[in-house]
Amino acid sequence: MQIIRNYVGGELVEPIQGKYIDNVEPATGQVYSQLPESTEEDLERAVEAAEKAQPEWAALSLEERAAILTKLANTIDYHSNQLAKAEAVDNGKPFTLAKNVDIYRSAANIRFFAQAITQFSSESHAMSNEAINYTLRDPIGVVGCISPWNLPLYLFTWKIAPALAAGNTVIAKPSEITPMTAYLFSKICIEAGLPAGVLNILHGTGPSIGNPLTTHPKIKAISFTGGTATGAHISKVTAAMFKKLSLELGGKNPTLVFADCDFEDTVDNVVRSAFSNQGQICLCGSRIYIERPIYQKFKEAFVKRVKTLKLGDPLKDTTQFGALVSKPHMDKVLSYIELAQEEGGRILTGGKQTKLQGRCQNGFFVEPTVIEGLDNNCRTNQEEIFGPVCTIMPFDNDQEAVSLANGTQYGLASSVWTSDLKRAHRVAKQIEAGIVWINCWLLRDLRTPFGGVKSSGVGREGGLEALRFFTEPKNVCIKY
Ligand code: NAD
Repeated sequence: MQIIRNYVGGELVEPIQGKYIDNVEPATGQVYSQLPESTEEDLERAVEAAEKAQPEWAALSLEERAAILTKLANTIDYHSNQLAKAEAVDNGKPFTLAKNVDIYRSAANIRFFAQAITQFSSESHAMSNEAINYTLRDPIGVVGCISPWNLPLYLFTWKIAPALAAGNTVIAKPSEITPMTAYLFSKICIEAGLPAGVLNILHGTGPSIGNPLTTHPKIKAISFTGGTATGAHISKVTAAMFKKLSLELGGKNPTLVFADCDFEDTVDNVVRSAFSNQGQICLCGSRIYIERPIYQKFKEAFVKRVKTLKLGDPLKDTTQFGALVSKPHMDKVLSYIELAQEEGGRILTGGKQTKLQGRCQNGFFVEPTVIEGLDNNCRTNQEEIFGPVCTIMPFDNDQEAVSLANGTQYGLASSVWTSDLKRAHRVAKQIEAGIVWINCWLLRDLRTPFGGVKSSGVGREGGLEALRFFTEPKNVCIKY
């Protein structure tokens, strides 16, 4: 049994109270490792290490910091097979997806911010003949980064990279459901020579270490990705402490398919957007609206294509669709499929748990599921399921499409499929979401703002937005 350790002050350490939690492999349902259940005492030790390291880290030249971060990215690349396998085991996602998306992009995140910090600049504002203002952008100090289980190392690095690049030291908490690659990453930090205390990784649950981390008075900024309810809790408990908060939360993303779309390409990509990572990407399109003239044709092609998805052992190269992340999550997804039927939905394909043979016989597999016949306002269409379940519904015109798309509390991402450029611009402008993809999905340029509106979050990650978040602006005004 592998034992995961915390990473504090440059060393792999046991949790002070010596408590551990079981970690389950979703494809087998078996406990295969244990992780620390860290507490406030571990946090105190980590804050001390981070505070001690921060001035020296911030004093490095931008090129020196960038060089260390680039080395981290290169070391991820060097271990990419091992990391991808670990991610597939820990999360249940297909190895090929972990290799080509999660791990590849984890290195890309760090490399991107290593370069971005060398190009970061601040503003100056001249006042005709009176004065000049310039803005200093200093690191905040010690910051906290909390990440979820769906893209474990990918989202972990997406947060810590800009924080570190900007000269902060970091205390990071990966999800207790998928801690393994963050643990392997701590070994990579040691191998790549990241100075001690610059990054500290504490494992554990929300109550044991998440809460103390968000409310610690010396941690001045929190970057959080996870569920909307947790985001609301963090906002509440930190409100009186005036911390900087970046919250990337849940979604219920609409996919708008117009009759003039490039049909085959749209079918392929809408399947990908609904079911990648078993539908467990915050950007997945789970409400699919189809213009009525092609509704029937699209439905048939879509369902036919979904049925070809190869569900199986995440470790096999041929697998396109793996296990859900945990038993409780599988139960939640199955309960929504039941609810959808109670609400009048018809299951066109999927709808059940799948039992595999051999190694994966006790795994958490659910068939990719497509449901039609539901009203936009029912719970199935309003609540985030975060699994391999999508609904399809017809619409009659642009206005109706936009109003259906906007008809939830969420506003993270959306995609629009049309060959009418004017319509694409018009609809993109009207959709209430932080991200609109036109004739594509999950095409990511790391310089662009990333995040959601309404209950999908506050603030933006990505590019300069992230570097601005992780720095404190100070205006200096000089009279001529
Ligand atoms: P979650 O909110 O349960 O947990 C996220 C992280 O917060 C975990 O590390 C968890 O341990 C920690 N946490 C839990 N309670 C806490 C507390 N009280 N204080 C501090 N930390 C606490 O979310 P999850 O189930 O891990 O992830 C799935 C959710 O994340 C979905 O809603 C999904 O849409 C969302 N998500 C959003 C984005 C985005 O960019 N907007 C990206 C990925 C996932």
